[in-house]
Amino acid sequence: MRITVLAGGVGGSRFVRGVREECARRWPDGNGGSAASVTVIVNTGDDLWLAGVRLMPDFDSLLYSLAGVNDTERGWGRAGETERVAAELREWGVGWPWFTLGDLDLGTHLARTAWLREGATPSEVAARLQRRWPLGVRLLPATDTEVDTQVLVADADELDGEREMHFQEWWTRYRAALPAIEFRQRNLDHAHPAPGVVEAIRGSDLVLVAPSNPVVSIGTIVSIPGIREAVRETHAPVVGVSPIIGGKVVRGMADACLPAIGVDTTAEAVGRHYGARSAGGLIDGWLVDDADAAAVEPLTETGLVAASVPLWMRDLDTSAALAGQAIDLGERLRDHATGRESTR
Ligand code: GDP
Ligand code: CA
Repeated sequence: MRITVLAGGVGGSRFVRGVREECARRWPDGNGGSAASVTVIVNTGDDLWLAGVRLMPDFDSLLYSLAGVNDTERGWGRAGETERVAAELREWGVGWPWFTLGDLDLGTHLARTAWLREGATPSEVAARLQRRWPLGVRLLPATDTEVDTQVLVADADELDGEREMHFQEWWTRYRAALPAIEFRQRNLDHAHPAPGVVEAIRGSDLVLVAPSNPVVSIGTIVSIPGIREAVRETHAPVVGVSPIIGGKVVRGMADACLPAIGVDTTAEAVGRHYGARSAGGLIDGWLVDDADAAAVEPLTETGLVAASVPLWMRDLDTSAALAGQAIDLGERLRDHATGRESTR
């Protein structure tokens, strides 16, 4: 079983941990791991240069979380983190005073930047970083091109009433409270999928879209030329999981992003936004929460195979159960497609 997951940071990490766990339970390899192979295509839209080092926040969230070295209380960064270097950087006026880089985290950024300076590509660096811990899944940055997301916000103090800033500034400094007009990924026109990304999607038995931010996580991944086409054309069923439950984002501030692309903060609207592959969209199956069961019927009319299941990932068991539901829906879609082919 080859599974490819498109994912962002926090929602992505919880879901991918569930996928890894569910695969180990369903297809045990006898050594505590799984015989299934899981590849995660990681959003790189949040990446940035800061204080002379390259940050890849979503990649690092997945890396730390899958390695079990993440801070589970705070929900991001390394466990047992200290901030001595950050205090010094603040004294020097380097970096952003409102964006703390932990000491252990800085170790990762320094290692990454050192390898980049030696000529390695981001995906080669990503491969080296994940050699340190046995993750049980393969993490692939979506692209080696720097596609850092900029946000255009309304600002009455500016002559033209608008201001552009890096996504991280908007997200962390302003807590996404400045109304976003548009998200712009740099260099998108000449970005290429990182090596292995298109192959993973096309060579999968199942593609899963994690309950990640539909705009700045999944939206960025699929706007890299070549990735949307690969998802649209793969023979594997594509199953997405809603990041919205009962009209609210479960964690985070994705609701501040959806209005900029004209999509309501509901599981139904996000499902329609991704759209059925049979109608020119990206997915075949869509999981909404039991609280959104009323969305199943209207979504079915759009060509999606929708189902309602519990979507809250509270711990490893609930994450694994959700992954299991997504895998089951994928199997149903595949049986359906095979049935269709054999009766042709
Ligand atoms: P980020 O990169 O850290 O912003 O994280 P992602 O893009 O991966 O995911 C953010 C999204 O994850 C948010 O929109 C949340 O609604 C969603 N999310 C977080 N926890 C859960 C959960 O337990 N269940 C579901 N269905 N979605 C979740
Ligand atoms: Ca992110």
